[in-house]
Amino acid sequence: MTTLMLFLAVLGQLLLAAHALRRGDLGLCAAFAALPLLLLTRRGAARLATAGALVLGALFWVDAGLGLVRLRLALGQDWLRLALILSGVTCASLGAGLWLLGGRARELFSQGRAVELPQAAAFGLTTGLLALARAKASVPLLLADRFLSGPVPGAGWLEILALALYAAWLAGAFMDPERHKRLRPRVWALFSAVFFGQLALGLLGLQDFLMTGKLHLPVPALILAGPIFRGGGLFMAILFSATVLFVGPAWCSHLCYIGAWDDACSRLGPGRPEPLPARWTFWGRAATLALACGGALALRLAGVDAMTATWLAAGFGLAGVGVMLAVSRRCGVMAHCTAFCPMGLVGNLLGRLMPWRVRIDLTTCTRCRSCSRACRYSALSGADIEAGRPALSCTLCGDCIGACPHDSMHYRFPGLSRPAARAAFLTLVAALSAVFLGVARM
Ligand code: SF4
Ligand code: SF4
Repeated sequence: MTTLMLFLAVLGQLLLAAHALRRGDLGLCAAFAALPLLLLTRRGAARLATAGALVLGALFWVDAGLGLVRLRLALGQDWLRLALILSGVTCASLGAGLWLLGGRARELFSQGRAVELPQAAAFGLTTGLLALARAKASVPLLLADRFLSGPVPGAGWLEILALALYAAWLAGAFMDPERHKRLRPRVWALFSAVFFGQLALGLLGLQDFLMTGKLHLPVPALILAGPIFRGGGLFMAILFSATVLFVGPAWCSHLCYIGAWDDACSRLGPGRPEPLPARWTFWGRAATLALACGGALALRLAGVDAMTATWLAAGFGLAGVGVMLAVSRRCGVMAHCTAFCPMGLVGNLLGRLMPWRVRIDLTTCTRCRSCSRACRYSALSGADIEAGRPALSCTLCGDCIGACPHDSMHYRFPGLSRPAARAAFLTLVAALSAVFLGVARM
């Protein structure tokens, strides 16, 4: 029985690969043909991802079968044999998919069982988001589609598979608080390096590394100020808002292309960060928010040309880099993000609308302040710890959770247990990190 079901699971995916090949989509064919190899890892996440692919495949065969039968009926051709064959394929695919969700398959694919659900969810979410973005975008979004679509039509599917595997790996690693603390700055820095690396290649003349070729400055304040000045161009504002909708203020601890620089600068500072006063983190950014938005509106109303506005925006961005070098590096805190960048404040405030939170369990907290020493966002003063929750400037980075020796800090989401809240939040973060790596470019 086990051998038969595994055979059907592989066959189901190869049939989907064959169908993609028939349509000339070589990339999708290769991605489906590669999927069964995941089963060789004996990992629980591979079992769940394969089950998902087979069940969705069964729905696809039903839809395709109905379409073909209708066509044959309209042409007055024989349809019964076709219907029987496709029904058999559907049943085999569905049967193998459901079997993979059962107890025997669970025993067989026992590697990484503790993280199988987050890993499989991150894999599926990344695949779904990238497939949707790829289908809806007016330009090829993925580098594989831009560079390889000649020899390999549909090569973007192979990139989607690679990014989904990356997301699954990240989700698994993030489940361990200590590992998340170590990995987060590296993953964030990698994303920023890829983002700016592509910008540099684009500026050197390799246009395929740019999104559309219509350049704008990579200064986060322009996410709001840009549309106010131009009277349109809301793509980045929508992307920022959608991210906040998924993961609250975690844009500023995992996903922002500039925030990674401030993180790197703060890590050059003293091991014990010197937190900034709460009034700085609010009023400093409130002032730059007013300056960025009010300034953009004033420039627009005054009819100032785009080039002058760009130079002013560049000056604002350079002032931010100055804050990183002069303050973040010296104090070991993210001074740019917590006291200068207006989008940091917008992320913190909008993030409050989402229920993701970090909370301190005061019944086990010994007030040792290990969490404060780990927080680079100046969000854990003595008063914050006594209140059982971080200050507004918290970005849900999770560093304090990995630093607490008493397991007193946790992610929280109403209705979810602590482990479930952690798994759900970091699964979303891992999937978005992989999606941004694939599509974020100027
Ligand atoms: S505060 Fe600004 S620069 Fe820092 S991570 Fe947030 S948006 Fe990016
Ligand atoms: S309170 Fe914790 S989760 Fe929030 S920013 Fe500080 S270290 Fe990160």
